[in-house]
Amino acid sequence: MAGLYLHIPFCKQACYYCDFHFSTNRNRQLELVQAIAREIEIQKDYLDKKPIQSIYFGGGTPSLLNARELDILLNTIHAVHPVESRVEITLEANPDDLTPEKLTELKKAGINRLSLGIQSFNDFILQFLNRAHDSRRAIASYQDAREAGFSNISLDLIYAIPGQRESQWLDDIHQALNLEPEHISTYSLTIEEKTVFGRWTVSGKLKPEPDETAAQYLELLMTTIQAKGYEQYEVSNFAKPGLYSVHNSSYWKQEAYLGVGPGAHSFNLHSRQFNVRNNPIYLKALEEGRIPAEVEILSREDKINEYLLTTLRTQWGADLNYLKKQFNYPLVEQNYTYLHQLMEARLIFIEQDILYLTGKGKLLADKIASDLFVLQS
Ligand code: SF4
Repeated sequence: MAGLYLHIPFCKQACYYCDFHFSTNRNRQLELVQAIAREIEIQKDYLDKKPIQSIYFGGGTPSLLNARELDILLNTIHAVHPVESRVEITLEANPDDLTPEKLTELKKAGINRLSLGIQSFNDFILQFLNRAHDSRRAIASYQDAREAGFSNISLDLIYAIPGQRESQWLDDIHQALNLEPEHISTYSLTIEEKTVFGRWTVSGKLKPEPDETAAQYLELLMTTIQAKGYEQYEVSNFAKPGLYSVHNSSYWKQEAYLGVGPGAHSFNLHSRQFNVRNNPIYLKALEEGRIPAEVEILSREDKINEYLLTTLRTQWGADLNYLKKQFNYPLVEQNYTYLHQLMEARLIFIEQDILYLTGKGKLLADKIASDLFVLQS
């Protein structure tokens, strides 16, 4: 099984925290879509003909694609890759794009899962982030999506925003739960250098929240959301039972995926490929029939570290036997004292040769994984 990610690198306006690759100049949008279709054709053997179980339109803002552009991309995928009949097709959408007509168009094109970029239900915070919608639009777009027949909807929320109070975060969680989405993805805001928030931080205008606040808000989220029957199948991702994102789960289970479009990256178990984050350079390369990408061959140590970083964050945990068989790596023997300390502190537990994080351990997931990293030989 394999996944396909399409990066749609256009946005109406720049959110102040965003470090993804996008351009607000949409003059060459159709050309760019045609170039992505060309890349799908050129990369037709990347996944070794494994059937595609998930297609994910991310960005940028994929809800800016029109019906013709969506058709070009989906028809190309079906023409060159074997696609599972029950494929999950997710599209990231911003509430301000989702008119009832647009939603009907998306449904007709074959999109069967929407990921709504709500981020917050607080209008002051939405303005502070420079989002293009307000909370009324967010709720209306969700209701319109239900009306249009979407039965699998995920909401994105951001926390640890500078100045955000705990009560405001709790209100966002409750408003999201009131809508009863199938899935909720959350992000702890990190300040990235080349963003407006990055510049404000350097000039002293903005003070990032400390890691302790992010951990406290995550803990609040975990207790509130799990009480409503959602499963935390990855540290930042919650779903109603059985409604996990097929696409994200495949990342965390280390399955192969192909990423197309400027700024996308791909993984085929042995290497990672990073496409250039520049629309004109991407367009020119595809005109010449080239993929403008850097390829990184993964060493044994890279593979072990990636495995730990991704699996420890999930409810499936890190399989100690897999590490031994696949990489000849005896994790417990190599880290006996540290693991013992983590167990004493009730941050981890091991059951049937699987290493799991406890609820408390999840608050420190990345730190624990990086402490277990293997050094390059
Ligand atoms: S957060 Fe999304 S909508 Fe905002 S600039 Fe980034 S990619 Fe575009």
